[in-house]
Amino acid sequence: MNAYLGVDIGSRTVKVILLDEEGRILARGLATAGYDGPAVAAGLVAQACAEACISPSEVAASVATGYGRGRYPGADAESSEITCHARGARHLVPDARTVIDIGGQDSKVIRLDGAGRVLDFVMNDRCAAGTGRFLEVMADALGVAVSELAALHARAERAVPVSSTCTVFAESEVISHLARGVAPADIVAGLHAAIASRVLALAERVGLEPVLTCTGGVARNAGFVSALSSAARMPVVVPDDAQFAGALGAALLALARQAERR
Ligand code: ADP
Repeated sequence: MNAYLGVDIGSRTVKVILLDEEGRILARGLATAGYDGPAVAAGLVAQACAEACISPSEVAASVATGYGRGRYPGADAESSEITCHARGARHLVPDARTVIDIGGQDSKVIRLDGAGRVLDFVMNDRCAAGTGRFLEVMADALGVAVSELAALHARAERAVPVSSTCTVFAESEVISHLARGVAPADIVAGLHAAIASRVLALAERVGLEPVLTCTGGVARNAGFVSALSSAARMPVVVPDDAQFAGALGAALLALARQAERR
């Protein structure tokens, strides 16, 4: 069997996807990148091959993307995050026109045309505010895991503003809110609103057209997604494999490259 591999080595997590010749997902894997993302990727690829019951020699083509792609020797080609995220998101949400991807250390907004081509994009990789890292720091200050933020948000009665745009100052704000007895749920709602407004300010540069989809690890946080939807005044579609959009796009590119060679 011929299989097609996409590897996304992000700043926080590594994702891999294996597709068959029809573009169906055979296996997927996700792990924390740690200090050696390429080694983590190699381990995930071996696991994905075992899960799909194929030998690594059956991987006919592979593409790597993400922050660490240049250090990963196991792929035939590299592709930019914008190309891969756009392709993956469009596959998951076929009518998407705007993709907001929020990962561990960056956020990006990609505008697509009706055929799924990239019209424009904008990226923030300079400032942690507006990224998953911001939420990780705030979750730590609140003494909870990022995976618990959505449940906390669901209990919020109001969103208490967190106005600092600097992560370090925002963390101090959270700590002083807690010291004044503000409910953690209300702080979380405020944090989600703050990130949503920062990401939308970024989105304004390329325009925000429905259908809007959100991908990346932060899309797993339903509290943030509802804050984004309220701030954007439109529904936000989150596909099941939102965190895998980049890896999926890379795997689809590997499949397309192989088809072109035939
Ligand atoms: P990257 O590709 O940049 O390494 P990801 O797209 O994997 O990053 O996103 C990582 C971020 O996703 C983390 O910083 C965290 O904020 C968020 N995240 C991951 N898992 C969850 C979860 N279960 N619930 C809420 N947020 C999550």
